[in-house]
Amino acid sequence: MTSIPEIFDTLAYGPAPEAAAPALAWLEQHGRRFGLFIGGAWTQPGSETFETQNPATGKPLALLTQASEADVDRAVRAARAAQPGWAALGGHGRARHLYALARHVQKQSRFFAVLESLDNGKPIRESRDIDVPLVARHFYHHAGWAQLMERELPGRVPVGVIGQIIPWNFPLLMLAWKIAPALATGNTVVLKPAEFTSLTALRFAELCEEAGIPPGVVNIITGDGRTGAAIVAHPDIDKIAFTGSTDVGRIIRTATAGSGKKLSLELGGKSPFVVFQDADLDSVVEGVVDAIWFNQGQVCCAGSRILVQEGVADRLIAKLKARMEALRLGDPLDKAVDMGAIVAPVQLERIEGLVRQGQEEGASMWQPSWSCPKDGWFFPPTLFTEVSPAATIAQVEIFGPVVVLMNFRTPAEAVELANNTRFGLAASLWTESINLALDIAPQLKAGTVWINCTNVFDAASGFGGYRESGFGREGGKEGLREYVRWEKGGQADGRTGGRNGRAKASSKRRRESSAGSSARPPVRPSALPAIDRTPKLYIGGKQARPDSGYSMPVLDQAGHSIGEVGHGNRKDIRNAVEAAHKASEWARMTAHQRAQVLYYIAENLAARATEFSRGVSPGEVELAVERIYTWAAWTDKYDGLVHHTPYRNVTLAMPEPIGVLGIVCPDQPSLLGLVSAVMPAIAMGNTAVVIPSPVAPLAAIDFYQVLDTSDLPGGVVNIVTGPRDELTSVLAAHDDVDGIWYFGGAEGSAEVERLSSGNMKRTWVSHGHDRDWSDPREGAGEEFLEQATQVKNIWIPYGE
Ligand code: ADP
Repeated sequence: MTSIPEIFDTLAYGPAPEAAAPALAWLEQHGRRFGLFIGGAWTQPGSETFETQNPATGKPLALLTQASEADVDRAVRAARAAQPGWAALGGHGRARHLYALARHVQKQSRFFAVLESLDNGKPIRESRDIDVPLVARHFYHHAGWAQLMERELPGRVPVGVIGQIIPWNFPLLMLAWKIAPALATGNTVVLKPAEFTSLTALRFAELCEEAGIPPGVVNIITGDGRTGAAIVAHPDIDKIAFTGSTDVGRIIRTATAGSGKKLSLELGGKSPFVVFQDADLDSVVEGVVDAIWFNQGQVCCAGSRILVQEGVADRLIAKLKARMEALRLGDPLDKAVDMGAIVAPVQLERIEGLVRQGQEEGASMWQPSWSCPKDGWFFPPTLFTEVSPAATIAQVEIFGPVVVLMNFRTPAEAVELANNTRFGLAASLWTESINLALDIAPQLKAGTVWINCTNVFDAASGFGGYRESGFGREGGKEGLREYVRWEKGGQADGRTGGRNGRAKASSKRRRESSAGSSARPPVRPSALPAIDRTPKLYIGGKQARPDSGYSMPVLDQAGHSIGEVGHGNRKDIRNAVEAAHKASEWARMTAHQRAQVLYYIAENLAARATEFSRGVSPGEVELAVERIYTWAAWTDKYDGLVHHTPYRNVTLAMPEPIGVLGIVCPDQPSLLGLVSAVMPAIAMGNTAVVIPSPVAPLAAIDFYQVLDTSDLPGGVVNIVTGPRDELTSVLAAHDDVDGIWYFGGAEGSAEVERLSSGNMKRTWVSHGHDRDWSDPREGAGEEFLEQATQVKNIWIPYGE
């Protein structure tokens, strides 16, 4: 007789398919051909079309329109025309609309899930239980932000017309992440879904009609990268929000450089999944399933690098293999399937190529014994062990169900391995010790850290990258900042107003320092000979002779020499960056300690006020002292948030320093400008390489003496004088500089943005707009704190 355990062993799943009929009927209703949704109306399918296919069968689903440049232009015009009215609806009006969208999504949720799985190949279990509920949640949550905007974001206004380009891995969810915050804050959008997966976006466009969203507020246009590039290039778009590969992100960064467009990029990742020896290994195994086999590993924050503490590595590998053997892969519409299909043949080929390369480079590959369906595009779950940290498969984003496993011995080694990547999107940590987890979490360079969980998302929590994983956040209060700008001034994003008030970044070259000229100017005839000083730079807490061995004259308005500064060059900048890195302990001092140092700087500057006031405008020193007080006051008050995500957990949104910041100071006021820019940066824990005003650098240079006597650790602030453009270019192109602030001309701003794409450093440039440094908001507003920090969301579940 068969025993009960034997029955359990031989039990097999029967097919449990979700019906595709409603989605297919919808496609038929449209004759399987779609136009574009512009200004609240549908265009006829265009002259150029392309096919979207079902990845599980390889069969065509529909023909879509390749939007041309003219189509992009019409969509932008429609969005522009609709924007003032949409903003004027006010928070409550917009909240009602967003709420309606959430309701409509919810009512259509099964339909959307089926259509998504058909078009993308993801298991219905995921589209039904994860993607679509999160879409509805995003619209509900942002309906709330619309309602609260006036109160919670005072002084900020919509950015205007937003161009949004999204990828194919979470088609409808990425649409929601983009559209909900944009609409909530009074913007209108032109959105392009990815060419492989446009269907749910097109159905969403219909939903906008059904829900009564005013025409032109949401425009959906389809097409491949050419359409994306046309959106990026369109001159009347105020901001680009992009999610996709780092390569395309870099193209977009370069293409928008100098345009004044606001930019947020959510790019690739190679996220570590760190397992300490005290972790609950059975939970870890389920965590790995969610980390790398969720959505076939086509997840930008997939936990694709398992780092496991040596003592438990073998046990974990054995458990993982057993679990992989039991995974079910097949028809995405089957409700009992764990993994579906890869979105397109080109992606499958890329995964296959990288897996081959992994084997050629000597890693050991393991796949379960069962085989994948032959129709459609499938790839089995794959585990690589014996992987060198430098191997291609350990460094490159595979974007497929392939995970590499490496060992570590100590927590310090875990941190080093985890951060051994150019990306920084997410990380998960597995340990039963909360102390260990909370010690490691801040050390990881990642925008999200999940403790004992992975791949959990919510509208209330910000999501986005460090390093080459991009910048900007989506979700949470921090995500709203991407879609608003300060009402007056506008220097934060280089644009000064809505459509009419917006000043184009002037191409007129600003007056650059005459210090760059090599001709020796006449010495002011009436001046007494000054006490001769050898001009030096300030690097690593010490005065340093410029590497060039040369100095340069500083001229007054009349062109007379009033002194000399060191002629810094690329070597000096590199030394300064190195010194700034070495001073990174500054970030780990308590905020109270950092505040004390800032107050001390203010005290020492005040003590030397008479001396400093000779070189600057009347009242400037006093204002500089007050400014330092302001930033000292903020040092221990710029708090994070605890987000209410709907899980049994707390989600800590922690502002963290960017790292090493390059700060290019404004021409004038030389001392106040330097103090106003550098102090908030260091208050938040950054270290800085500063290029002072080229026009009047002397007071700024003497400022090092104040720093020197104020207990500021060496290397936290480094000052390099010299030809500003040349030095700025070196800073902007430097791969070890994490961010750069540039308060100068339009051309210099464009150059900074262009060069920053190398390591995707954060930029904040003025596009040639002057800032009133004496004004408390323009010279000491909250935007300095926002620009000096990036938010890390740490998810901490609780309960047994
Ligand atoms: P993935 O690796 O996720 O496919 P891509 O970066 O290739 O990411 O694509 C993401 C989105 O970017 C898609 O909507 C795609 O059409 C679009 N895209 C591709 N190339 C460009 C480009 N040069 N400019 C703007 N958008 C682009």
